[in-house]
Amino acid sequence: RTLRAVHRISPRECEIDGRRLLDFSSNDYMGLSMRSELINGAVEWSRRYGTGSGASRLISGTNGAMLELEEKIAAWKGFESALILSSGYSANLGCIAALANKNTTIFADKLNHASINTGCQLSQAEFRRYRHSDMAHLRRLIAGSGGDQKLIASDTVFSMDGDIAPVPELVRIKKEYGCFLMIDEAHSACVLGRTGGGVDEYFCLAGDDIDMKMGTLSKGLGTCGGYLAGSRALIEYLRYNLPGFVFSVGISPPLAAATLEAIRLLQDDPSIMEGLHRNIRCFREEAKKRHFNTCLAGETAILPILVGRDEDAFALSMALLERGVFAPSAVYPAVPRGKARLRFCVISEHKPEQIVTALDTLQEVAAELGIKLPE
Ligand code: PMP
Repeated sequence: RTLRAVHRISPRECEIDGRRLLDFSSNDYMGLSMRSELINGAVEWSRRYGTGSGASRLISGTNGAMLELEEKIAAWKGFESALILSSGYSANLGCIAALANKNTTIFADKLNHASINTGCQLSQAEFRRYRHSDMAHLRRLIAGSGGDQKLIASDTVFSMDGDIAPVPELVRIKKEYGCFLMIDEAHSACVLGRTGGGVDEYFCLAGDDIDMKMGTLSKGLGTCGGYLAGSRALIEYLRYNLPGFVFSVGISPPLAAATLEAIRLLQDDPSIMEGLHRNIRCFREEAKKRHFNTCLAGETAILPILVGRDEDAFALSMALLERGVFAPSAVYPAVPRGKARLRFCVISEHKPEQIVTALDTLQEVAAELGIKLPE
């Protein structure tokens, strides 16, 4: 069976085949998707305006909650305007195809998310990939390229390793060479920075350092959908030129209302981010004590543990499941051959002792299966 039912029964637990498991698979980083504030917001707006979107947004599918949400997201991300789409994937895919043309050269990190890569491939632009976070390589590629327009695209937090892109250096390069800089905040918004403000807060960037930020509602904000934030002129252009916006529905009223509640909670309740940052630190320290190799993991909620062979990663993930811990494996082609890993994600709601239990259990099952984890 390739798809199995996973029911989230609490922010930190899920149920698979009737068994209750400690869940380290979810990107619901702030544990918000089950908060009563979000659920009540969604229920109230469903009762008033229904569960569906009705039509594409330019026709009649834009409800009030969505407009309010776009304003909130723009202000939160430090821009004039924002646009919401039905997924982060379609936001990345569509915006690159809408912004780039045959006179554009796109420079993209080799480990960027698939939605950026596919957007670049679908655009008519020349697509150049630089070695992961290798700024010298990026400079060489830009210096050697012709083309009228240059676009740099990078994840902020890389989804398989959990490391952080050198964004201040990307900003310097974009200014030096007159490039447009687009940054994916899927795993950095609601994670990086004291208040979860994301890339700007973490690196103390200025307002005009990044030209466009993309993000998703499906991770830290606990709902579903994607956003693009930028200048008024840029977002206005995308509103009429991004096919995934023009020809597709937006998120439904309950999702927009729940996301508004999520942003309110993020801004009103500092204990959520404190809990997440405590758990990220706890996981890294406990993993280090046990000599696990956490790949490139930094101060983010993606905390992989290197295994090596795909079959060993599958076996460990299954054995953990048997012992009540859900930590999915990440194998080729999502990661290079021989670099399979268990991809743990921590959220604000985990208790430190649950992190300890999960790592102890991993140590036990690895010993039982005779799998030596690389240090
Ligand atoms: N960018 C990155 C870095 C991601 O990890 C993801 C989700 N896996 C996306 C974009 C797409 O977001 P969504 O799941 O909302 O489509």
